[in-house]
Amino acid sequence: MKKEISKEKIEAAVAATYEKFKSNTEGKNADYIPFLAAIPSELFGIALCLPSGEIISYGDVDYKFGIESISKVPTAILAMQQYGDKKMLEMIGADATGLPFNSVLAILMESNHPSTPLVNAGAISACSMVTPLGDRNGKWESIVSFINALTDSEVDVIDELYKSETYTNFNNRAISWLLKGYDRIYDDPDMSLDIYTRQCSLGITAKELSIMAATIACKGVNPVSKKQVFDAYLSPKITAMVASVGFYEHTGRWMFESGLPAKSGVGGGVLGIMPGQFGIAAFSPRIDGSGNSVRSQLALKHIMEQLELGIYDY
Ligand code: GLU
Repeated sequence: MKKEISKEKIEAAVAATYEKFKSNTEGKNADYIPFLAAIPSELFGIALCLPSGEIISYGDVDYKFGIESISKVPTAILAMQQYGDKKMLEMIGADATGLPFNSVLAILMESNHPSTPLVNAGAISACSMVTPLGDRNGKWESIVSFINALTDSEVDVIDELYKSETYTNFNNRAISWLLKGYDRIYDDPDMSLDIYTRQCSLGITAKELSIMAATIACKGVNPVSKKQVFDAYLSPKITAMVASVGFYEHTGRWMFESGLPAKSGVGGGVLGIMPGQFGIAAFSPRIDGSGNSVRSQLALKHIMEQLELGIYDY
């Protein structure tokens, strides 16, 4: 049964949370991708999108930051939309790895599939699955137009970030070719990795991410554009995947403490899905040792506590 929570209560919770954490400086920008190390660390924003399409927001919610791993969520939905959820299970899987996002060990341990589209291996595999819009080069267009529909905006690659990732993604190159050896890359491995790298380099705002999250929370209907962007049955499927691995090896702890299915990215963003209630996003570049934004985690946890909400609490 859905808990009824007033808009006023939600507004008060977001405002109080922003005030509480706006001076927090814990964590450190990601530096294995040089571009991310140079992002102003003090940036902080929270945006919450209601099923009505109204957005409650505080702070730097219009700043375009690198979407990074959060891009794994839309591509997983797109691949499921194109192939069906069962095929996704067969071709990639839906299990948490319990290991870091870029783990090669996880692939070696599960040599028959790459576990889930929400870690690097499965995400590169999902990029290789995507059916192009138009000709073969249209794979990328297919992903971008899907993200545009999910966010009701026009997203673009941050060129400097894309270059920075391309010059330093040695680990991901190894993953891509290792997966090719297991027949889990369904197209050219270098091209699939390039699409993955490009999607990680997309610039996105916290407001746009909150609309994406709300579209998932509203069974595939974008609350701003009012358009059905993907089949309703996929919402619980992607939410289950996010709840199982959204914070990589610390997902269990995150779900225990917050009750909010959420996906983080090393760019500092976090996208949270509260089915039927709202989509939420936070952004703050300083991350912890596992690649999760420290302040975004604190903020989202605090909002859930204030609202006495949780996906397992009814
Ligand atoms: N582009 C990053 C990588 O592949 C994304 C990692 C993340 O956000 O967790 O390493």
